[in-house]
Amino acid sequence: MITDRMCVLNLYLSSFREFNYYRIMSVYHDEVEIEDFEYDEDEEVYYFPCPCGDQFQISKAELAAGVEEATCPSCSLVIKVIYDKEAFAAKQEELIRDEEKQLVTQKV
Ligand SMILES: [Zn+2]
Repeated sequence: MITDRMCVLNLYLSSFREFNYYRIMSVYHDEVEIEDFEYDEDEEVYYFPCPCGDQFQISKAELAAGVEEATCPSCSLVIKVIYDKEAFAAKQEELIRDEEKQLVTQKV
């Protein structure tokens, strides 16, 4: 015999599972590798098409700072950006060093 209490428990468990599912789904709409983004050199921003018609965006500075969430300005979707944080930070340092070198050579 199934008691009311068991029914309530089952309901509770299934809603909990659903809640977790939606929570995970709502955190990241998708996971996208940085190579799949389109890079705008002038703005220094990476773009990826959003299903709403707009574009997810994340700036180079955000990536260098370790941010891994790209947001869409038109809707609430968020995607996780897959990239090698350490390699990216190292690349950033290299670029800065190159810029410094260029500045030095320009002065000479
Ligand atoms: Zn969107």
